[in-house]
Amino acid sequence: MNNSKNSLDSHKWFETFKHKDHLYIIRERLDKIDPRFYTTYINLFLLIGSQIALLIDTGCGIFPLKPILNDLIEDKVLRVLNTHSHFDHIGGNYEFEKIYIHPEEEKSISKPKDISFLRDSPYEIVKRYESRNYLIPSANNIESIKDGTIIDLGGLSVQIIHTPGHSSGSISVLTNKDELFTGDTAHYGTMYVSKNELTTHLASIKKLLDLFKEKKDLKIYPSHEEIAVGKELLDDLSKGLNNIDSLWETKKWDNFLEAWLVSDDVFKYAVFEEQ
Ligand SMILES: [Zn+2]
Repeated sequence: MNNSKNSLDSHKWFETFKHKDHLYIIRERLDKIDPRFYTTYINLFLLIGSQIALLIDTGCGIFPLKPILNDLIEDKVLRVLNTHSHFDHIGGNYEFEKIYIHPEEEKSISKPKDISFLRDSPYEIVKRYESRNYLIPSANNIESIKDGTIIDLGGLSVQIIHTPGHSSGSISVLTNKDELFTGDTAHYGTMYVSKNELTTHLASIKKLLDLFKEKKDLKIYPSHEEIAVGKELLDDLSKGLNNIDSLWETKKWDNFLEAWLVSDDVFKYAVFEEQ
């Protein structure tokens, strides 16, 4: 690898900041890999308990993630989970001993994932994938994690919530310190939704909205774009998804995403119509 002063490395590529004593945000720029996703940020999260550190997602794998974590977790045991198995959340899985994921998506990370759709990105950086032949490597060991599972990190605990819709095994993660990590189930920017799963997706958003009845101060940390947002994200998204049919006349086909694009005042939606 080229180590000249100007060359990018993991520490320059990932933007890392301490958001709270027990929570680091690690961001990378999806738009700098390929702007055709209409998405700026991929957000990874590192929760730090007194015994265990929990990494939520491993990014798109274009730069190694482990060097970033080593500085932050000290002597703690590291556990890693995937909110779901899309390429931009699992790219660094191969760097870790074991990955936790919902049973619905275990199979998907147990084999290499083809990302050759990135070959014609306008940006040179995708050439970093060339040596791996545009494949995201499979995870080394996989352990399934189901709805309701509680993980005690030491002074901090998290609960797994199954929130299918964006994908069948999408999970959200709720901490006992009022943080809710929603993966791609809810975020601002471009939401990727499946036309056949809209009802399922809406039910998952309802499930998350219900959490606010008892925990009014919850903050939402999505896997893309803005973080530490409030309940209004879920209200807006629920309204938007319910309204997609009324936007349908304005839809435009996107050749790269192989999806229909529609927009409202808040979101862009990439709508997939599977057979
Ligand atoms: Zn994503």
